[in-house]
Amino acid sequence: MRSALFAGPLLLATLPAFAAPLAIDCGRLLDVKAGALRSGLRVIVEGGKISAVQKQGEALAAGATRIALPDSTCLPGLIDMHVHLTDETQKQADSFRNALSANPQDLAYRSVALAERTLLAGFTTVRDLGAGDGLNVAMKRAIAAGHIRGPRMFTAGKSIATTGGHADPSNVLSQKFNRALGTPGPMEGVVNGVDEAREAVRARYKEGADLIKITATGGVLSQASNGQNAQFGEDEIRAITSTAKDYGFRVAAHAHGLEGIKRALRGGVDSIEHGTYMDDEAIALFKKHGAWYVPTISAGRFVAEKSKEPDYYSPLVRPKAAAIGPQIQETFGRAWKAGVKIAFGTDAGVFPHGDNAREFAYMVEAGMPPLEAIRSATLNAAQLLDQAGSLGSLEAGYSADLVAVDGDPLADISRLQKTAFVMKDGVIYKQP
Ligand SMILES: [Zn+2]
Repeated sequence: MRSALFAGPLLLATLPAFAAPLAIDCGRLLDVKAGALRSGLRVIVEGGKISAVQKQGEALAAGATRIALPDSTCLPGLIDMHVHLTDETQKQADSFRNALSANPQDLAYRSVALAERTLLAGFTTVRDLGAGDGLNVAMKRAIAAGHIRGPRMFTAGKSIATTGGHADPSNVLSQKFNRALGTPGPMEGVVNGVDEAREAVRARYKEGADLIKITATGGVLSQASNGQNAQFGEDEIRAITSTAKDYGFRVAAHAHGLEGIKRALRGGVDSIEHGTYMDDEAIALFKKHGAWYVPTISAGRFVAEKSKEPDYYSPLVRPKAAAIGPQIQETFGRAWKAGVKIAFGTDAGVFPHGDNAREFAYMVEAGMPPLEAIRSATLNAAQLLDQAGSLGSLEAGYSADLVAVDGDPLADISRLQKTAFVMKDGVIYKQP
């Protein structure tokens, strides 16, 4: 074990959780379950878990370290249900160059800083919804082992697409390169028909994924003409969701277009990502099947903005970004008012990592009360992750994931964009 003598800030992540108890005195503490701000409370952390939440007046256990955050509001660590931690937006000309010349190792080293930025922004848990070459699975392992600093990750491994679909990794290549490299198959996340659909789910199990992501419709940033066409048959989706159950995987479906949204919901997916063109019938299907909506307003707003620059995106992508991007916030507002279950998700990577918390302001702007926006990134996200008993709340027995921001985020949601304190698994990564 590394000696505490060398415990500079850079090495914090390599240290085990403090052996001695920590007592965090919060100016205010947000009880997300009760929906109440409470003052005068102390969170006791031992062995990476919250062991108690008690009054500040009580005697400290022997050897306990006290941390005072009198001006801050403590909240559970935030959870983003849709990120791509091993990729980040850049001019598409540069992504093409990367596709041709960067090795997976280059991308892996580049993304170390993206994971750290996300954690320091207060996101102690993320769901990574797709990367090639096993990058996100390797990152999850590196973070869990303490080799690099980042949020707790649940990963889809490689997204599953159909040929030419949104997550077909060969879309970007010319026919010449496609011939030379061979056709991607289920192992690379490209399927046609129910047998390959099943095989691709099993390949994710082999890859070390925690869940499944499918691209049920076209998307904005792939080199393809249509951003919303349905790209899976309902039979293929059913094959995926039923096979996923065998492995304890939940299924997230990227979907912009209406037909693909409906097929995915009828096919039994757990969440729809983006959901841009959902109508009332789709909203009814969400409710009937108990599916979650993960909006990603941030990504929509970012691509809409960047589509105004002439050469940020390719000529194929630019009109899709301009058409689809601006729709998502309005769709979110309708879905929320109609009572669809919402889990917080941003699609970070489509925009710079670390800006995830802006999504809260966009949600509130579209009509969601601040408390509900925070619940979507704590209680709700934990439910969609199947981690409801251990993540998303500050109470005894839960993982010691705690963030603090100055002021009152219920009165000013933008407070969440500036963290004062970040703890994950009882390890402090940021403090005043
Ligand atoms: Zn995404």
